[in-house]
Formats: sequence, structure tokens, C-alpha cells
Amino acid sequence: LHITGPLYGGQQAVLSKDQAHYLSGVMRLSPGDTITVFDGASGAWRATIDAASKRGGTLTLGDRVAPQRDPPDIWLCFAPIKKARTDFIVEKATELGAARICPVTTRYTNSERIRRDRLQAHAVEAAEQCGGTFVPPVDEIVTLAKLLDHWPDDRALIFCDEALSDDPDWSGEGESNPWPPAPAAILIGPEGGFAPAERDRLRAHPQAMAVGLGPRILRADTAAVAALTVWQTTQGD
Ligand code: SAM
Repeated sequence: LHITGPLYGGQQAVLSKDQAHYLSGVMRLSPGDTITVFDGASGAWRATIDAASKRGGTLTLGDRVAPQRDPPDIWLCFAPIKKARTDFIVEKATELGAARICPVTTRYTNSERIRRDRLQAHAVEAAEQCGGTFVPPVDEIVTLAKLLDHWPDDRALIFCDEALSDDPDWSGEGESNPWPPAPAAILIGPEGGFAPAERDRLRAHPQAMAVGLGPRILRADTAAVAALTVWQTTQGD
């Protein structure tokens, strides 16, 4: 369970109504039972339930049972799509160890407004589900132009370019030039793909490297999962 930190042994933590209901009503846990909690920064802690019902509850923290484990420094930048698919991207990016989630608007982006707090809550739930101790921050949405204007000099930008699906050598830069190591970021476009001017700007960007994800055009949510999986398999730890 994610608890707002900083956590320390002996601390009494207050549960939200949803958390208390989840422990008592869904997990069927009772006072005296122990669970593992994390704050996203200080590892995993054992905690004993003092009280939990649908009206709320409290826990008492015991020992730290695992150190903090942060993912490698890979960001996922993506153009938000329909609500359920955007939620899916945030959930899967968290499970697949993205260190930061950066929604970006592009020329053909269909939803330019996102509920950052809602997406952040999805990231928390996904981290809880996969037993992680890290929750990737979800940024406020920015335009692609602004993102590129402020791009850090040391971070590689892995530009997933659907235009490479037509290329017989669809892996883009080829085997002799593998995907770059951390710090890096993956960029996934919207349902309509990137506009020609965006593609030109990305191709000319000094930190960007265009990659293909196969000879078929994937949905944006599939592309995000595929790209993070390839990166974690080849460059992750
Ligand atoms: N129309 C589909 C949809 O509704 O989701 C396709 C969307 S595709 C254009 C969305 C993004 O996924 C692209 O901008 C690109 O970043 C990534 N993508 C999809 N297929 C790809 C491929 N074969 N190679 C590289 N990137 C790909």
C-alpha cells in the first residue's frame, strides 16, 4: 500500500477511507494483521493494522523490510489518446519501470487536457499492484515544441517513428546502433501519428534517434508497451 511519506519506524499512519475499505472489505484483513507499505522513496516497511473499516483506519509502522529500488532513468513521453487507453499507458509504464511519465501534445493529439492527479493515482495503483517501491511522477502536459526546446543535453530521445514501419530495415538505426542507454526517453505519437514538420524537427534534433517497432503500425498504447519492453530488455537493469 502506498502511504504518503516520509515514513519511519513506530509512526502511526492514517489510512484514507478507500485504503481502509480495501484492507478490511476487499482483502478481509483485521486489526493486528500486517501488510507492506511504501512511500516511493524509502523502500518497503512492515505495518500492523490498528483499525480499518469503511470509515477509515490507522496503521503502525514496524521495520523497513526492503531498500528503495528506483527504476533505471527512462522516461515515457507520449501524446494522450482516449481516456481508457491513456490510463492503460500510465499503468503499463509504471509496471514496466518508467522513471517519469511525460504527457505531450502534438499536432494531431486528440485529447489535449488530462487529469494529472487521476493519472498519478493510476501510477500509484500500478506500483502497489506490482509490489514496487517507486511511483513515477506524472508531469503536467506540455507541447512537443516546448519539450524539445528544454530537452536536457545528456538525455537520449528515442523517437518511435511509425514511418519506419514501411522501411525494409524497420529497426531504424540498425543493429550496429542499438537503443541508447540511460538517461533516455521514449517518445510515442498520437493515434494520427506525427505531422511531417514534427518528424522533420525530431529527425534534426541532436539527441533524437528514430526507431521502428516492426513492420506494422501499432496502436499508441501497444507502441508504448513494446518500446519500454525493448528498452528494459536491452538497456535496463
Ligand atoms: N491509428 C493507430 C491508433 O489508433 O492507435 C496507430 C497509432 S500510431 C500512429 C501511434 C504512435 O505509435 C506513433 O506515432 C509511433 O510513435 C508509435 N508507433 C506505432 N507503430 C510504430 C512502428 N511500427 N514503429 C515505430 N513507432 C510506431
